[in-house]
Amino acid sequence: MKLLLVVAVLQSAFFVHSQNKYGLHPTNISGYRSSVQTNPENELVDLQEFIPGLVLDIRYATKNNFTGEQIYRLPKAYARKPVALALKKAQEEFKRLGYSIKIYDAYRPYSATVKFYELMKGDTTYVASPYHGSRHNRGCAIDMTLVDLKTGQELSMPTTYDAMQKESWPTATIGNPVIVKNRDTLIAVMAENSFKVYPTEWWHFDFTGWQKYEVMDIDFEELR
Ligand SMILES: [Zn+2]
Repeated sequence: MKLLLVVAVLQSAFFVHSQNKYGLHPTNISGYRSSVQTNPENELVDLQEFIPGLVLDIRYATKNNFTGEQIYRLPKAYARKPVALALKKAQEEFKRLGYSIKIYDAYRPYSATVKFYELMKGDTTYVASPYHGSRHNRGCAIDMTLVDLKTGQELSMPTTYDAMQKESWPTATIGNPVIVKNRDTLIAVMAENSFKVYPTEWWHFDFTGWQKYEVMDIDFEELR
């Protein structure tokens, strides 16, 4: 009996260190570095350096987001290597149409996902569950819109970023045909480049094959 008790205590001590309260153990910076050595596709690429003409508007590095708080210290956009390559191809197509990609958020540390979930008191309609982590935590999701190359202005879309309402759904009926064309162009070009729009957010795109990548909890400062 005593031995069993000792084993149980040791096991619970082990889990306290390896898992968080949601049962996940996200990859830290050293785990990430060794995973890149094993498989270079795991690399988180700095999208602003990698994709010509990319516009960044990293809302969680400001107070202009649904939390009203600054979540990130640096306005950075990272994604896994194959995601960055696919996004670069999409950017080439958008440029042919006279547009450029503007990114609101890309790789997101797991700790930010936990914060969003707790702020939303467990409602996962618009934020990810910390029991599984977000595709953003895997470096495989992009929140974005388009800007006009001539004016630098954002194209009109059905809602603002992170608007938690029915009009944000990519299938929502919208009266203005220009807005519908803008939204549907964004979704179609992204689909041609292996990105699937999220069913409740016209701005969120998941890279096909995201399941292969682990959830990470690494700050932007650690990646530089
Ligand atoms: Zn998103």
